[in-house]
Amino acid sequence: MRDLVIIGSGPAGLTAAVYAARANLSPLLIEGWQSGGQLTTTTEVENYPGFAKGIMGPELMKEMRAQAGRFGTEFLTGDVSAVSLKNLPLILTIDGERTVEAKTAIIATGASAIPIGLPNEKRLTGHGVSTCATCDGFFFRGKELIVVGGGDSAMEEATFLTKFATKVSIVHRRDKLRASKIMQDRAMKNEKIAFVWNSVVEDVLGQDVVTGVRLRNMVTEKISELPCAGVFVAIGHRPNTALFAGQIDMDEKGYIRTHAGTATSIPGIFAAGDVQDSKYRQAVTAAGSGCMAAIDAERFLEALGA
Ligand code: NAP
Repeated sequence: MRDLVIIGSGPAGLTAAVYAARANLSPLLIEGWQSGGQLTTTTEVENYPGFAKGIMGPELMKEMRAQAGRFGTEFLTGDVSAVSLKNLPLILTIDGERTVEAKTAIIATGASAIPIGLPNEKRLTGHGVSTCATCDGFFFRGKELIVVGGGDSAMEEATFLTKFATKVSIVHRRDKLRASKIMQDRAMKNEKIAFVWNSVVEDVLGQDVVTGVRLRNMVTEKISELPCAGVFVAIGHRPNTALFAGQIDMDEKGYIRTHAGTATSIPGIFAAGDVQDSKYRQAVTAAGSGCMAAIDAERFLEALGA
């Protein structure tokens, strides 16, 4: 029986682990098959405090993991496939095989990229369709690409992709970007980036690999085709909470509801990071809430007399 299990290995989970380990709770952190969370799929992080020159996302996560390990966090690689949260002890099943019992848990499972939802987008994922420029940009040297979306992610992905591509067209459904001013300016100043306004991707074209997209102009309803070798989808994220459905209180979008810090609707279960935050969604806010969750769990255990 564990005192504390942490599910998730992004900034929230790893910060919770640092605090919990230093409080002698000997946390077990279940890190999934792809450790490190969303920051491992990003490039340079310029706004995480403490790194005046910036730091690469994967490097930041490596450091956080090492820091959590230094104080005795135990890591388990695997996905939680089932949970039973309603009665103590909490029971977590890992990859359908082994189970872990615990007195408290911190859910820090983060969020995942949202697809447009087109059948050919799914079919051609990995064959030209991607949600991660850092992972896949390299394969598109000398090619023309499109990025879908108008937020910071879309600007960041497009800017990064110009390292490889000859041209990147940002396809956005409105004529105004949602991205922050600094990210907009950076993309707009980049000579390799073009904007396709008021447009949505109706279909992704190509047999074995992507050869283009079919676009619909939302104002004129005109349909057109834009040849490209890759489609990078950057239209936001959804929380990874399917596993907890029906057991814990969530909002209409599936984000776990928290109150009084990181408490959820179930005593002893705390939530931190993007899984409970649809508003700020920053690495530093995720880390901050991970710290809060560890302190909340520690106090819960103290009250249990553990
Ligand atoms: P976001 O801000 O929610 O933007 C999503 C974009 O995709 C919006 O422009 C939206 O259009 C568009 N969109 C949504 N659904 C669509 C659909 N079905 N079809 C076509 N377009 C669609 O998401 P994000 O860019 O991933 O950013 C999320 C958060 O992370 C933000 O708080 C952002 O500041 C932060 N972030 C920060 C950095 C950084 O600072 N380095 C980098 C990345 C992200 P509308 O505008 O019309 O709604």
